[in-house]
Amino acid sequence: MKIIDRLNEDGIHISFEVFPPKTDAGFDKVMDATKRIAALNPSYISVTYGAGGGTSKNTAYIANYIRKELGVESLAHLTCASSTKEEVRQVIQNLKQSGIENILALRGDIPQGMAFPTEERFRYAYELVEEIRKHGDFCIGAACYPEGHVENEHKEDDIKYLKQKVDAGVDFLTTQMFFDNDIHYNFLYRIREAGITVPVLPGIMPITSASQMKRSQQLSGTVFPRRFLSILDRFGDYPKAMEQAGIAYATDQIIDLLANGVRNIHIYSMNKPEVAAAIMDNLSEIIKC
Ligand code: FAD
Repeated sequence: MKIIDRLNEDGIHISFEVFPPKTDAGFDKVMDATKRIAALNPSYISVTYGAGGGTSKNTAYIANYIRKELGVESLAHLTCASSTKEEVRQVIQNLKQSGIENILALRGDIPQGMAFPTEERFRYAYELVEEIRKHGDFCIGAACYPEGHVENEHKEDDIKYLKQKVDAGVDFLTTQMFFDNDIHYNFLYRIREAGITVPVLPGIMPITSASQMKRSQQLSGTVFPRRFLSILDRFGDYPKAMEQAGIAYATDQIIDLLANGVRNIHIYSMNKPEVAAAIMDNLSEIIKC
């Protein structure tokens, strides 16, 4: 099923994310986590794509497994910066042949030391969106950044390029993680004003350890509000307490979003079924409303 059709159905839609193992040794663990996340009955599960293209086979394999064996819709991420146009076309064809209907089209981060841009690679995600459209009737998602993308100094430019990307054929957007919902509401206001009308799924990352917070900050450049920093300061040295507090913080963000009319939410569950389950448990009555 196309994810956009699911998002357009009545009710609240919660999706989760898994990432493929970096080595074959981690495969069983990831598959076990994926099964347990699927058992929570999310609207779909997205499967990330390794920045260097290294996990592309695993992304397709896991996305297919989720769909065919676990009975949950899946979204296969695809990045283009680290592969040639020809390699990207081959991956799209493989996804099509295996029956994948939903792709999250991303540029990906530019590998350090790699010559970029070059003639043989797609330069921006909108070019990848155009390419995917040529290959068939996919439902295409793309990324957006409520705090602005790290490479772009001016938020207005970021929104201008986001509009270009959506106009190339994007059905829905998922945001980068954020920890202050006001940033999201402000972003929504600005993109709607710019004429971007597709559904936007806020991406919520439950931060359950101090090291995860540091990694997230390095990756996304996101701002952590004082309220979150106080939690980290008080509970960061107590793993169980920090996990509980991180789950509560993410739950609180989600409840606020739902109370303000948001219906679709993506949770960066990061192969942690116990965290995903705890959040779903916290929302058990709320998501029925
Ligand atoms: P783009 O939309 O191409 O934007 C990249 C930059 O170029 C932005 O600064 C934008 O403003 C600018 N830009 C765009 N178009 C133009 C133009 N025409 N002219 C000038 N400037 C332009 N990474 C992975 O490696 N694997 C994953 O699975 C993955 N999943 C992600 C999922 C989500 C929901 C998000 C938010 C990010 C994800 N990422 C993933 C990270 C992402 O690949 C990086 O943030 C990357 O740096 C940007 O990708 P993009 O698709 O947003 O790029």
